[in-house]
Amino acid sequence: MSGRVLLVGAGPGAPDLITVRGERVLRAADAVVYDALAPRALLALAPAHAERIDVGRRGHEDPPRTQEEINALLVRLAREGKRVVRLKGGDPYVFGRGGEEASACRAAGVAVEVIPGVTSAIGALTYAGIPVTDRRHGASFAVVTGHKDPTQVREGIRWPALATAVDTLVVLMGMRNLPELVGQLLAGGRPPDTPAAAVMNGTRPDQRVVEAPLAELPKRVAEAGLGAPAAVVVGDVVRLRAELAWFEALPLFARRVLVTRAPAPASTLCRALEEAGAKPVLVPMIRSVPEPAPPALGAALASADFVVFTSANGVRALAAQLASAGLAPGALAARAVCVGPATAAAASAAGFAVLPLAAPAGDAAALLAALRASLPLAGRRFFWPRAAGAGDALARGLREAGAGVDDPVAYRTEPAGFDGAALARDLARGALHALTFASPSAVRSFASGVGPAGVAAARSAVVAAIGRVTAEALAALGLEPDAVAARPEPEALVAALAAAFERRRQEERA
Ligand code: SAH
Repeated sequence: MSGRVLLVGAGPGAPDLITVRGERVLRAADAVVYDALAPRALLALAPAHAERIDVGRRGHEDPPRTQEEINALLVRLAREGKRVVRLKGGDPYVFGRGGEEASACRAAGVAVEVIPGVTSAIGALTYAGIPVTDRRHGASFAVVTGHKDPTQVREGIRWPALATAVDTLVVLMGMRNLPELVGQLLAGGRPPDTPAAAVMNGTRPDQRVVEAPLAELPKRVAEAGLGAPAAVVVGDVVRLRAELAWFEALPLFARRVLVTRAPAPASTLCRALEEAGAKPVLVPMIRSVPEPAPPALGAALASADFVVFTSANGVRALAAQLASAGLAPGALAARAVCVGPATAAAASAAGFAVLPLAAPAGDAAALLAALRASLPLAGRRFFWPRAAGAGDALARGLREAGAGVDDPVAYRTEPAGFDGAALARDLARGALHALTFASPSAVRSFASGVGPAGVAAARSAVVAAIGRVTAEALAALGLEPDAVAARPEPEALVAALAAAFERRRQEERA
């Protein structure tokens, strides 16, 4: 397909509020042109080869690009034959100058597609618990820009008219002129006690909301230190926030939580944290390094009845070894038995045939018990690609039950380099509300990275461990965990964290 420009609405802030179609075209982009309000996390969806161009800023000294320069850039890239995604915060046509960019492309004969997005004018309100319309409180709404000086003659006519024309008034870019805007609305006859709110960073974990009667909103916003980007909303619908503020009610809302796992398993933990309203701060402290495939890997696997996976790292290591030996997981006769649902999901995704075990998620001991309960073990052959340094209880238990076990070391865990001094500083200034650890090796890597002062500073945060063994490693450091997951799974870790924060809240109240 020849070059074209795709104007894509990125949504109001939370990266996963982009549309399915928006994500699809982003994944196929040759160039992404974005600015300040497009969520940074979305850039990672574009292919590695895609150019990523920030038109919101240039170097320190250079002035930002003008609209004409941006238009020219889009046209030039498309003429080079590229699929150019122009990623814009919210909806491209809501105060986004998307119309101008589309017109410029058409004028230059460049094909354009436009993919709408969730505008902050509606989405930020939704996350603040404010429905833009509601039969009980408001049957019309208007979205207005507040960046023009409302005391100028033309605007001075518009604002008083707007004051009473609609039930719900949403003002974007209105923070700088807020006192003047509110003054105009009051002068136009909107009652001073009309419910109103400002929603800053809506839909993001750092969302902040100030709610006040219209006449008091500017003062209260200034006191709270709110600034752009924020949506201001005026109207009776704001009353519903008292019962509908679901986002801020999430158990970990606004908590900054350190994730120390290696990148691949960290992603599921980060997702679970986000689902609970937290802001994950990813600093991988360990990494898993697969061993080269042993020479007789194919033969060893051919004689196995079952492959045992005790972690997703084991899955990845064996998959890598098989690939290097020209073998495919799906071609194995052996079926996979896994320690828990996360590992089972990783094994299925890698193409292994996973045997559903009626086992609760657990550690190697729980897996052994489940295997004993559901399989005849005598005479069966197990292949267990294990971590260097893993305990041998599982292999021993299987052998005691009469099974054969082949358990080569398939991967080892190494400390991953990270900026320990910077992290220690963040801990000292209380920038992290919680720390999570999923293995003793991550605990050790953390301790050596941040040093004794960093460990001491960590005590004021909520410290969480994925299981007993990790909890013991923390306790040995003097960092007795406040939360230990009931099962070694992201969801259970998140639940333990939420309970720990709730306990702290009650202690503070008492
Ligand atoms: N096209 C965008 C709006 C661009 S104008 C949209 O449809 O959302 C920029 C203004 O949008 C900001 O000044 C602010 O008023 C609003 N805005 C953008 N992101 C926001 C967010 N996450 N929370 C609240 N307001 C936001």
